[in-house]
Amino acid sequence: MDQPHALLVASPGLGHLIPILELGNRLSSVLNIHVTILAVTSGSSSPTETEAIRAAAARTACEITELPSVDIDNLVEPDATVATKIVVKMRAMKSKVRDAVESMKRKPTVMIVDFFGTGLMCAADDVGLTAKYVYIPSHAWFLAVMVYLPVLDTVVEGEYVDIKEPLKIPGCKPVGRKELMETMLDRSDQQYKECVRVGLEVPMSDGVLVNTWEELQGNTLAAFREDGELNRVMKVLVYPIGPIVRTSGHVEKLNSIFEWLDKQGERSVLYVCLGSGGTLTFEQTVELAWGLELSGQRFVWVLRRPASYLGASSSDDDQVITSLPDGFLDRTCGVGLVVTQWAPQVEILSHRSIGGFLSHCGWSSVLESLTKGVPIVAWPLYAEQWMNATLLTEEIGVAVRTLELPSEKVIGREEVASLVRKIVAEEDEEGQEIRAKAEEVRVSSERAWSQGGSSYNSLFEWAKRCYLVS
Ligand code: UDP
Repeated sequence: MDQPHALLVASPGLGHLIPILELGNRLSSVLNIHVTILAVTSGSSSPTETEAIRAAAARTACEITELPSVDIDNLVEPDATVATKIVVKMRAMKSKVRDAVESMKRKPTVMIVDFFGTGLMCAADDVGLTAKYVYIPSHAWFLAVMVYLPVLDTVVEGEYVDIKEPLKIPGCKPVGRKELMETMLDRSDQQYKECVRVGLEVPMSDGVLVNTWEELQGNTLAAFREDGELNRVMKVLVYPIGPIVRTSGHVEKLNSIFEWLDKQGERSVLYVCLGSGGTLTFEQTVELAWGLELSGQRFVWVLRRPASYLGASSSDDDQVITSLPDGFLDRTCGVGLVVTQWAPQVEILSHRSIGGFLSHCGWSSVLESLTKGVPIVAWPLYAEQWMNATLLTEEIGVAVRTLELPSEKVIGREEVASLVRKIVAEEDEEGQEIRAKAEEVRVSSERAWSQGGSSYNSLFEWAKRCYLVS
């Protein structure tokens, strides 16, 4: 029998591409199936995207094809958000995906799209694939809100930001004003409408793979399975197969970071990074810098401009250094490192000296941290990161967060210093509990992916259902 073949389609942007690449790696290494990844790029000749694809191609058994981008300028308003542009672009890629599949010598059996690409699922039907699945590189609470959004859309009047009572989501923690996804902030915006549409399209798939695991979010996952409103809305099976994260590899560049980390004590360094797109105002950069200095803790701070992303501007990374307070680099010399390039995050988080992560709470960053037992200072900025921060602090207990949202108010240096000390300094009691919980979660994440673990079994169940393994 021919080796089974799965087709994965990745949306533009590193935050979407990386999770699909990692899923592809897992499918090919664990299930021994052939995986083709069609990578839709942002079309703005993003060097980091192309580099990531090249790097991934070099270390994976998956076949990766970069799909030529289509122009969507006539399909979106000039001021459309990144989320709108991605969803619209993915929908516009239908014929390119069809052509790509038709030109394949060996046809895939199933197609997996990430949630921005649900509009492409009909291409799977057109070319005669047996099944189409959605991959949610985020968590179960996020998935629940996504698929329940069309219901909220019909029953809630006015803007969600004006709600007095948190929104009830069956089987989950309610969503308060502070947890609304960015796409829910303005119901008249096209990105909200696209999000409702995605919420309707997800249940039209043959099932959903989600990057979480049973022991982390058992209650919400049970609500998808058991008879109830969430299960009725979802309609199809949900397979928790996480955590799927990059494993640390060999780093050639930037090894000065590791030379420095090697000299630091066990769990003594805070790693600061706001993902591929996170950026701070000048004022906030200054307060964060002072906060790090006041905390007296060691740090590695990735201070970059966001990657060029579907037309968003990108500037010279070295320029960001000028936004630091006068003398900061001299005063913190030996205590901290400021990195202005793309950092080898997984390798940094894997280093024994890392004791905390100040993170924007993008789900990949969260998982990369949790799988290393590193507790988090939550600094949510956009997308669904506010939900993630609440999940980490209030449900899982592996993080601390600021009193106000960093996206709404400048967080002062004293607060920064106190949060950093809580997570990294040895003596803090609350910090100790959080660190212990982070270690517990690390162990549970390993167990989920060991042979016979919950996610391992869930992936095999899915593969059997798709006839990818017998
Ligand atoms: N990342 C990295 N180096 C950086 C910044 C980010 O390797 O300097 C990686 C990080 O390890 C993660 C991804 O980029 O895998 C960011 O994804 P996440 O979901 O955390 O956030 P997003 O960038 O999508 O907001």
